[in-house]
Amino acid sequence: MARFLYSTVLIVSVFPLHTTSNYGPSDDQCFCQLSGKVEDCCCDVEAVHNLNKEVYPKILEIVKQNYFKFFKVNLGRSCPFWPDDGTCSLKDCSVQTCKEDEVPEGVKGYHDPKKSYNHKPLKVQKENSKRQTVKEQPKKCKGDNSTLGDVNIHLSEEDKQAFETWQQYDDAENSFCQPEDELSADLKYVNLLLNPERFTNYKGDSANRVWYSIYQENCFKLPNPYTEKYEASSALNQLCLEKRVFYRVISGMHASINTHLSAQYLFKGNGFMKPEWRPNVEEFKKRFDPEKTKGQGPSWLKNIYFLYLLVWRAVIKAGPYWKQEGFFTGHKSEDGLVKKHIGDLLLQSRNCPSTFDETMMFTGDPVTSRGLKEEFRKKFRNITRIMDCVGCQKCRLWGKVQTQGIGTALKILFSSNQFAEDTVSPSFRLKRNEIVALFNALGRYSSSIHYVQMFRSLTRR
Ligand SMILES: Cc1cc2nc3c(=O)[nH]c(=O)nc-3n(C[C@H](O)[C@H](O)[C@H](O)COP(=O)(O)OP(=O)(O)OC[C@H]3O[C@@H](n4cnc5c(N)ncnc54)[C@H](O)[C@@H]3O)c2cc1C
Repeated sequence: MARFLYSTVLIVSVFPLHTTSNYGPSDDQCFCQLSGKVEDCCCDVEAVHNLNKEVYPKILEIVKQNYFKFFKVNLGRSCPFWPDDGTCSLKDCSVQTCKEDEVPEGVKGYHDPKKSYNHKPLKVQKENSKRQTVKEQPKKCKGDNSTLGDVNIHLSEEDKQAFETWQQYDDAENSFCQPEDELSADLKYVNLLLNPERFTNYKGDSANRVWYSIYQENCFKLPNPYTEKYEASSALNQLCLEKRVFYRVISGMHASINTHLSAQYLFKGNGFMKPEWRPNVEEFKKRFDPEKTKGQGPSWLKNIYFLYLLVWRAVIKAGPYWKQEGFFTGHKSEDGLVKKHIGDLLLQSRNCPSTFDETMMFTGDPVTSRGLKEEFRKKFRNITRIMDCVGCQKCRLWGKVQTQGIGTALKILFSSNQFAEDTVSPSFRLKRNEIVALFNALGRYSSSIHYVQMFRSLTRR
């Protein structure tokens, strides 16, 4: 018996149960705002939970498909706002880019979808597989002593030609994102499934500067998260709807990032345990508990719900566009499957018909609202540029996916006279990367809501 007790104590002390904890019902404070109406939206938290039960498995299936998992991105652009402090050398910040033959040709634009299907088999990319790499000369993050992340750089002549022949259209008026330079040699395809958004340990001056710049210099006049007298909710109520929406979008994205890093947290190994990725309740509480966030954490969590509803509304509004979109990869059966999955996803709009109402925004005096809309667009565009200042490649990648995804949602919501009932104007166009970013952004906020519910049940145990 004594031997049994000794081994039980040993097991518990060596293998601490990080995912569960001894919290009582009063430790449920992070979730105290997660009921009732989602502010500035047309539905409540409970309706979002019901909707997300259906959306979550479907969006996970969608973003697994070839069309959606390859994201074209330039991770090498320098920061346009302050001297670069270089990308950091944290191991978990490194990003694997794709080799030429790992990306379907249809995705790269080599084949015109109207002309032909190509059945050349794809090479399957495995995590940590050996690949051509070019060593960066990164600077070290503060307090970091880990190894260099390898980044594979490859752009063939064929790629360059394909970029040139892609259909271009002038979307400058409607775009909420800084466009990527299609001819840059630094443009790469990244398989998002192999580079998941999770804990990287990116923090300190570099991360602070990015968030500070987003909230203080590139939002409307918003609460300063770094001052002592931080009362976001009262400050927020003094803003007009459009400015509140802007703040909630950014805060929702920030909360979603911090939820993901808490849900997929790296527990270091020791003599008895291997390193392991799993939820960290303490980390989550540190970020959202009202006592540790000057009372603001719960409202940040609620902003994820707001953002989810805004992006969902855009996906539903663009329904007629998805009907005509081929989601072309060059593989007929795969493209058909994607269309079916998207069709299934859109059916969920029946379960929650009113979500976010974009027609309430930019109304009133036409000159003033046009000016406000332009300001809104420019500020958001600037935030997409700030992503080039993020000093961790993995965080930069997902920051770009999300800001481009939200930017695409805003473009759908605020492009005037492009959608009517069941039709879309022929002049309305989305690039493949915008579509990929939009659906992956929805995937982020859907999984964040799933994780928030998971943390809620873990803290209740
Ligand atoms: C674009 C971007 C992407 C990132 N991606 C990752 C990632 O994938 N993995 C990873 O491990 N780290 C990532 N990070 C870093 C992470 O977001 C934090 O910055 C880091 O963990 C340090 O956290 P912190 O406690 O200093 O607070 P931070 O999260 O840096 O927040 C700074 C201040 O902002 C305020 N604040 C916090 N949350 C909110 C909110 N939701 N709404 C309004 N105000 C808020 C608080 O006052 C806080 O003190 C990313 C950072 C950026 C800028």
